[in-house]
Amino acid sequence: MLDYDLHCHSNLSDGTLTPTELVARAAGREVKVLALTDHDDVAGLAEAARAAAEYGIELINGVEVSVTWRKHTVHIVGLRIDPNNPVLIEGLRGIRSGRRHRAELMAESLARCGIGGVLEGAMRYASNPDMIGRTHFARYMVEAGHCKDVRSVFNRYLVKGKPGYVPHEWANLQDAISWIRAAGGIAVMAHPGRYTAGRKPMGRTTLLELLQEFVELGGQGIEVVSGSHTPPQFAEFARYAKEFGLLCSCGSDFHGPEESYRDLGRLPDFPLECVPVWTAWEK
Ligand code: AMP
Ligand code: MN
Ligand code: MN
Ligand code: MN
Repeated sequence: MLDYDLHCHSNLSDGTLTPTELVARAAGREVKVLALTDHDDVAGLAEAARAAAEYGIELINGVEVSVTWRKHTVHIVGLRIDPNNPVLIEGLRGIRSGRRHRAELMAESLARCGIGGVLEGAMRYASNPDMIGRTHFARYMVEAGHCKDVRSVFNRYLVKGKPGYVPHEWANLQDAISWIRAAGGIAVMAHPGRYTAGRKPMGRTTLLELLQEFVELGGQGIEVVSGSHTPPQFAEFARYAKEFGLLCSCGSDFHGPEESYRDLGRLPDFPLECVPVWTAWEK
């Protein structure tokens, strides 16, 4: 098993644990190196670093940047970024500034199908109001009894084609990679197995085009082992890593004890041919 977990969320984005609780949980589950990768914000990193020193694990400064590529939403993880870099900070601020407006449109759209009060309800779940997102809506809608769990709220209301889904223009791929690199980080294609085209999975040809462009723009890594990938996907993305000369990353994408594909840490090993992303900094 791998003792690196390079993708997880705190309550500064859409996780449920504070950065300190997250680090404590990781340490308790034998994680040696943890990257906190909140969506579009680095606000949790200082607290996480203090907790990591206390619990004796290594913290990697990370972020997960929301990107619109063609018509698709894709996520780019930045690892070992400098959270004080002004280019990165400004870029992330720009992304966050669209979230409040999107949330208002989502709430209006849900209200039109008879589901009221969701913006106020969702805001109660967003510890960082700037980072209001679909997961906060989902948590509130479970509380209000619209569905039995977060997953079902997404499927019924919040994915493309459903009443609470509002298309949104995130950062472009080139900007996201350049902010991460300006901040000294390594850009990693997050969970390639999760991307969709409409409501279907993204086709292989499109994914390969995405990876080609990602590499041309300075992307250096790909998540091979992700909490949301199946073992056949580990093998598939290990092949693409080799084909495109990408470093391999691994992360649970943990959001909270009740809601995640996988708990922190304890990820299965990489396929043999993988070059781990940490070889870039552990010499
Ligand atoms: P947002 O950036 O506000 O659009 O929210 C994206 C987040 O929603 C992702 O990072 C996941 O945490 C969560 N998410 C997306 N799709 C699903 C799904 N089908 N089921 C559960 N959570 C999802
Ligand atoms: Mn999330
Ligand atoms: Mn993601
Ligand atoms: Mn994530």
